[in-house]
Amino acid sequence: MTEDRKVENAIVVGGGPAGYTAALYTARANLEPLVFEGFQWGGQLQNTTDVENYPGYPEGVMGPEMMSQFRAQAERFGTRFVTDDVDRVELSDGGVQRVFLGDEEHLAKAVILAMGAEPRRLGVPGELELSGRGVSTCGVCDGAFFKDRRVIVIGGGDSAMEDAIFISKYASELTIVNRRAEFRASKIMLERTRERENIRFKTPFVAEEFVAGEDGKLAHVRLRNVETDEVEDFATDGAFTAIGHIPRSEVVTGLLDTDEEGYILTEAGSTRTNLAGVFAVGDVVDRTYRQAITAAGSGCKGALDAEWYLRDTPPSPEAHWMPGGEPAEIAPKVA
Ligand code: NAP
Repeated sequence: MTEDRKVENAIVVGGGPAGYTAALYTARANLEPLVFEGFQWGGQLQNTTDVENYPGYPEGVMGPEMMSQFRAQAERFGTRFVTDDVDRVELSDGGVQRVFLGDEEHLAKAVILAMGAEPRRLGVPGELELSGRGVSTCGVCDGAFFKDRRVIVIGGGDSAMEDAIFISKYASELTIVNRRAEFRASKIMLERTRERENIRFKTPFVAEEFVAGEDGKLAHVRLRNVETDEVEDFATDGAFTAIGHIPRSEVVTGLLDTDEEGYILTEAGSTRTNLAGVFAVGDVVDRTYRQAITAAGSGCKGALDAEWYLRDTPPSPEAHWMPGGEPAEIAPKVA
């Protein structure tokens, strides 16, 4: 049954700027990539409004529109898309790579991992229970629901500032709650936030619980002052958490080298993982920059690394990538 199964040149897992750029480059290299772009294709930019810092868009561009354009550009050169989440992978060191959607198995000579990252949660009572009933991780998605309401934004980085600025266009008053007096956010974002008349800051506080009112929606957040340990119930209609991200590497956990937080480790200066034929790009690798432009650049590198890998190894491709076959040994082992 396995004999006539197709072995793809390259499978890309992920449909954000990194995945689509990897697809574009591999498609233009005539590798006919197959992209598993995820059910919610477009990645985090799907939840972003104005993107003002992507070169080539002097007037800015909406995140979802930009992702549609990335996708269309990859499609123009023959990329095929599967709009679903990969369930499982079986990775090989230099052999055939296997990607599964349920029981459906797809084979490839090279795989480019570009799963991105997702919002970090506080992990406190009420956070998940009240998600969609006052608690949210996406200001851009849900901010407009809080017109003339009181809102808090938890976090002190650029994401928190960006969310706060956006939501403050709707909310009557907005309070940024940060666990320390200093902010991780960039100076320009902090300044922009401070310029908004309806934004206040509350530090150093952590959220310990999200509590519903009688209507089942968020009524207040229990905040604790980390210096004095005093606790207060802070009345609010909405609470947005913006405390960073975690890499979406669960599908490869234990299969290749990651750091303690799950970011996939790659060789310095390349996108090569510890497994030959497996490349990793974008936010699932990058704990530092995490910008659309850096993710796209990384996707380009991944495609070139994959292309060079397919060109240069192994000496006997037929034997090496036989459908259903095991990786061939490149050189005989010396006892
Ligand atoms: P981040 O820079 O890692 O900031 C995370 C924030 O959440 C920090 O203030 C951190 O506090 C706080 N935090 C983390 N865990 C917490 C917890 N359990 N309880 C309370 N607070 C917690 O993440 P980010 O804001 O998502 O930004 C990520 C990257 O994207 C950054 O490089 C950023 O510059 C970039 N970005 C840029 C823009 C823009 O330029 N327009 C917009 C969004 C993001 P501590 O500081 O105390 O650790």
